[in-house]
Amino acid sequence: MSSISFVSVSKRYGEVDAVKAFDLSCAPGEMLALLGPSGCGKSTTLKMAAGIESVSSGEIYFGERPVSRLTPGARNIAMVFEDYALYPRMTVWENVAFPLKVRGITGQPAAQRIGEVLQLLGLRQMAEQDVSGLSGGAQQRVAIGRALVRDPEVILFDEPLSHLDADQKVQLRAEIKRLQKLRQVTSILVTHDQTEAIAMADRVAVMNHGVLQQVGAPQDLYERPANLFVANFIGEPPMNLMKAAFAEGGRVAGDGWGATLAPSRLGALRASDSAIVAGLRPEHIAVRPAGTAGDAPGTVIYREPRGDADVLTVVLVSPTGEGARLVAEIAGPSSWRAGDKVSVGIDEARLLIFDATSGRNREALP
Ligand code: ADP
Repeated sequence: MSSISFVSVSKRYGEVDAVKAFDLSCAPGEMLALLGPSGCGKSTTLKMAAGIESVSSGEIYFGERPVSRLTPGARNIAMVFEDYALYPRMTVWENVAFPLKVRGITGQPAAQRIGEVLQLLGLRQMAEQDVSGLSGGAQQRVAIGRALVRDPEVILFDEPLSHLDADQKVQLRAEIKRLQKLRQVTSILVTHDQTEAIAMADRVAVMNHGVLQQVGAPQDLYERPANLFVANFIGEPPMNLMKAAFAEGGRVAGDGWGATLAPSRLGALRASDSAIVAGLRPEHIAVRPAGTAGDAPGTVIYREPRGDADVLTVVLVSPTGEGARLVAEIAGPSSWRAGDKVSVGIDEARLLIFDATSGRNREALP
């Protein structure tokens, strides 16, 4: 078990800066997710850790050991791929045995380790079956067994659940988390799926355009996004982002709404005069009967029932015509329907203020 650190790592493919000055550390035994949209540089980062791609500049360390110039075989890593990458004509046992065999570990010592891993993964009954006949979920469990069997320093997971159907996904992500914690193996998980990252990882690193945007525990990213990109990327439905301006008396106002900010926040929030964007999560908006004092008047234009929740789109009334459009997530099923006049209550303590130009959360640490 060792840490992994990327120190100012960059990767260029010709004209494309796939990863830019990337600084990140994954602690021993930690599961860290690299999360971001397609093309943001997640896989390239993982491949550089694996040694499948070289770094253009910077250094990667496993513990204190620089590994950038080592071949994949010299790094003591295991990889779990999206498409399982098993040997189709071999049995479950033979697939799990393979990494030991190539290292000359056979006989009783190998059998004991393979047996133990198959037991851990609930694959004992299937040991003699060909892997090609197994479900996707079972095949990926075999791939995880193959990764665990030789106690690697680091396991790199590249979109491991992408090919599985929904119930297998839920099962296997719990399973991977359980095994990762049990074995305390330092792991990096690449995914474009925030639910997966949040469910499995201790910390999540959000990337965009090859640049690390923020790293933190899922709750930190959710409550204190460092910038507009993270604010918009984390959370579903996404955070409402509204044009806003400061007004007298510690007020902030937008099209058809206003809120009072706590005096203790004003110093950081009003540090600059440049334009701002206010952010508010859908679950921090209350929808109440029209005329509720202190609320902003509006009209429901769309209701999306989600079983135990309703997602309502409300357009606010503004002196200049149509005001801001807000998405609210409330307990469901509610009785609100499109066309209903309502009052919208803003949870003022949850309102975030971003710099419109830089996108930075004004309360984020520099
Ligand atoms: P992600 O895994 O987040 O989808 P990638 O790391 O695969 O992103 O890609 C990051 C960027 O690098 C993209 O613009 C992609 O087109 C580019 N890229 C990735 N691999 C190569 C390659 N082998 N040659 C040229 N460009 C590449």
